[in-house]
Amino acid sequence: MPVLVMKFGGTSVATLDRIRRAAKRVGVEVAKGYDVIVIVSAMSGETNKLVGYVNETSELFDAREYDAIVSSGENVTAGLMALTLQEMDVPARSWQGWQVPVKTTDAHSAARIEEIPPANIMQKFGEGMKVAVVAGFQGISPEGRITTLGRGGSDTTAVAFAAAFEAERCDIYTDVDGVYTTDPRICDKARKLDKIAFEEMLELASLGAKVLQTRSVELAMRYKVKLRVLSSFEEQSDEAGTLVCDEEDIMESNVVAGVAYSRDEAKMTLVSVADRPGIAAAIFGPLAEAGINVDMIIQNISEDGRTDMTFSCPTDQVARAQKAIDGIKASGELNFSGVDIDESVAKISIVGIGMRSHAGVASKMFKVLSDEGINIKVITTSEIKVSVLIERKYMELAVQSLHDAFELEKA
Ligand code: ADP
Ligand code: ASP
Ligand code: MG
Repeated sequence: MPVLVMKFGGTSVATLDRIRRAAKRVGVEVAKGYDVIVIVSAMSGETNKLVGYVNETSELFDAREYDAIVSSGENVTAGLMALTLQEMDVPARSWQGWQVPVKTTDAHSAARIEEIPPANIMQKFGEGMKVAVVAGFQGISPEGRITTLGRGGSDTTAVAFAAAFEAERCDIYTDVDGVYTTDPRICDKARKLDKIAFEEMLELASLGAKVLQTRSVELAMRYKVKLRVLSSFEEQSDEAGTLVCDEEDIMESNVVAGVAYSRDEAKMTLVSVADRPGIAAAIFGPLAEAGINVDMIIQNISEDGRTDMTFSCPTDQVARAQKAIDGIKASGELNFSGVDIDESVAKISIVGIGMRSHAGVASKMFKVLSDEGINIKVITTSEIKVSVLIERKYMELAVQSLHDAFELEKA
């Protein structure tokens, strides 16, 4: 039997009623003759609640216990989905990550899937089971501890299963009906895309568009998984939603494909660092060891042998970053006068493959922001994206004006 992977995100399993509705969708695919692997997220809000418990209990928590706690939301929905399917006379059972097993690295809270042996589930399909419901977001480390794949990780679970089982398609059911030119929740002119290239989706995801987890796009690209994003709230045809595909499969596209934002960014500056070879290594080495996802970096021009070094990271890593910096100071390895922390910035990015062959895109972006009176604090660019850090209160305005200026509402 051909295998289909169907993933249901948090809002799609938020209540028993929604689980029933999702189960009906699964039933439709079973009736078409598929063996279906259903990946579920926790009910919406659950993971945030669990993360809140962890943070309240311990600020610099043990990531292994964090994983034991925050992975639990998915266990509930996996069991409930299997039960609901059984009530519909669809032969189904649930699996937690370790039972499959979904083997991951031991990078707790940000583990990577290394292997998913298909044997256990395939055997059950052979015995007449029609649906394997798997708890998303979780796996097991080489030491046998529970791991999680980072926020939004159920998308990655889904794509990894699609690759491991050579599924015909991986359908990501969510609360919007596809991938848009920007988040439709903050820009009402956002336009749904029928297709988007892997590279563009990868950039949008890594720059904050949480509709797909970055790693899921990476895996789909590498293993040639047919990946589709669609709504669990509407009746669906086989052409619905957005197909994430190779660049060659898209006929025409705009220079800029989309605008992404990342709300919870922080900017940290080490002030007046003694400038000498090795300072970047002395700063970013310990930050990397502390697991800080340093994003943008700028080093000022040196004056009188001293310079400022600025970097950005997610706001929820500021405490850890601060601790690492205190460690650097205490070690005496680096001489600097202080640390400035700005926790009220957001990152705005424009993304498009067309930028490879079009000049002037970045300068147009800067002009649009300056016309709105928005000050740019940090800039980074790559071949197909430009990102800026701005004050968070201007985030929506920046997204909307860039969407207008690049005419993204037009196909
Ligand atoms: P799920 O719980 O189904 O995984 P998520 O909340 O993780 O859903 O992702 C879906 C959300 O992603 C949408 O509700 C939307 O607000 C947001 N989003 C951000 N950027 C985009 C985009 N470019 N296209 C579609 N949705 C986007
Ligand atoms: N429940 C997890 C989260 O909220 C994983 C997911 O939904 O993909 O991050
Ligand atoms: Mg998600």
